Amino acid sequence: MFSCRTREFCPSCHAKRLEEWGEWMRKTLILDVPHRQVVFTIPKRLRVFFKYKRRLLGDLCRVADRIIYHLKLTFLRRKNSRRSGRGAA
Ligand SMILES: [Zn+2]
Repeated sequence: MFSCRTREFCPSCHAKRLEEWGEWMRKTLILDVPHRQVVFTIPKRLRVFFKYKRRLLGDLCRVADRIIYHLKLTFLRRKNSRRSGRGAA
């Protein structure tokens, strides 16, 4: 697999790593169980903003909710396309 081997951010290599990570997640972590647990964390250096502006926690929860919603849609689409034999989209 091609890689430019740069240590800085490269959109092409990042997309590949993201795809590989997603595939690893699907094969290794996302088991066929009826429930999921997702944990969102805040990087330590950003926590101070949430400490003093508590209303940001509401925004954070709404963003996390939207992310989970989109992850769920993506997961279900891939699962359904695999079942119908059309491959992952
Ligand atoms: Zn690259």
